[in-house]
Order: sequence, then structure tokens, then C-alpha cells
Amino acid sequence: MIQPPDRNALRRIVIKIGSSLVVDELGAIRAAWMQAMAQDIAHWCAEGVEIVLVSSGAVALGRRALGMVDKTLALPEKQAAAACGQPLLIQAWQQPFAAQDVMLAQILLSPRDTEDRRAYLNARNTFSTLLAQHIIPVVNENDTTATAELRYGDNDRLAARVAQMVSADTLILLSDVPGLYTSNPRTHSDATHLPIITHITPEIEAMAGPAASHRSNGGMVTKIQAAKIAH
Ligand code: GLU
Repeated sequence: MIQPPDRNALRRIVIKIGSSLVVDELGAIRAAWMQAMAQDIAHWCAEGVEIVLVSSGAVALGRRALGMVDKTLALPEKQAAAACGQPLLIQAWQQPFAAQDVMLAQILLSPRDTEDRRAYLNARNTFSTLLAQHIIPVVNENDTTATAELRYGDNDRLAARVAQMVSADTLILLSDVPGLYTSNPRTHSDATHLPIITHITPEIEAMAGPAASHRSNGGMVTKIQAAKIAH
């Protein structure tokens, strides 16, 4: 189990969960992992920690539902996959959280909502109201209205903006790799893991390669960008 954070230092946490944790290579839901995660989060909530989840996986689940697991998708196809996959994603989270007696709420955001002041403030009020009632907001990008020019595309930077919006103490980006390596560990056997990075330098940025999976748009580049936003 992940260790519960120090309650005084970490009162409000945003946890971003990558597609490859929620969905396996064949596009099926990783139910056991989600159940374990829901148990950990419910435990933290019972300790008084407020949690916002940013969960990817809509496109990956929609791909499977539409029979397009390995296809390279054009933007409208990706949007259609996200629209089909989003209810499946929420349902997949709802089951393990209901077993823990924790209620969820769905929030879909686009860059307009995080960059426009009025929309930002309204969204912030919604988050505060939900958190005050011990409800966990589950956030994703509103992929239907996102355009090529105006979309986050990756949930790493979206999660960082959400962390700012809710004045979170901590942002956690969970992925299927343990962290940043000096080069891609899947292709370079001599890659070294960097457990702590205190300053994001050009050298650090150069270590991040492109996203390694067709299930997600993120990767280390967007995680470093998210860290910069959060910083
Ligand atoms: N919004 C996308 C989804 O739910 C995830 C984007 C990303 O890979 O970060 O599939």
C-alpha cells in the first residue's frame, strides 16, 4: 500500500492516473489495480485528506468499444473514442469506490475552463463544494469540444492546472514507469533512474523522450511541463 501522507503537510492532493494503469494492452480495464487504488484513496480520505483524481483512459476504453485498439486515430475519431470511453471509465471507478462508500463526481474541463477567469472561478467553486462534502471529483479533459489548437491533449498538464485551481498541496502523477531516467529505460539498458529532481534544467528536459504508448498522449515531456506549471 502507498504510505498515507503526513496529514498536516498534505491536506489536498491531486492524483493523476495514466491510461496504462487503468487499461491493459488489449484495452481491458485493470480492475484489480483500480480496486487497490480506490482502497488506498478511501483510506486517505478517512484520514481527512482531500483528493481530486485526474483519470485518463477514456480514449483507450473507447478504442476497444469501437474496435479500433491499434488504429492510428484522426482527431474526430479520438474524440468519438473519448465520448464512448468516458462513461466506461467513470463506471470502472465508481464500482471500487462505491465498495468503499465513497461518492464520485465527474468533471470534464477544457483549456477554456482553466484559462478563462470566470469559468476558472466557477470550476474552483464546484471543486470546493464537492470536497467539502467528501466527494472525490474525477476529472478528464472535455475531449468533445477540444480542438487541435485548443486542447491539453495530455492529462499531465491538465492535472497541474487543476492542482493550481484547487490550491492543492501536492500533485502526484502516476504512470507505468517509476520516474525520470537519464534516457528511455525501455530502449537503453544503461538508463539511470533519477529519484529526486529539485531543479528542472535544460539537461533534465533533454532526458525526456516522446510518449512510448499509443494508449496515452503523455510521457516524460508532459510530466516535466506539469512539474513546471505546479512549481
Ligand atoms: N483525455 C485522454 C483520455 O482520457 C487522456 C490524455 C492523456 O493520455 O493524458 O484518454
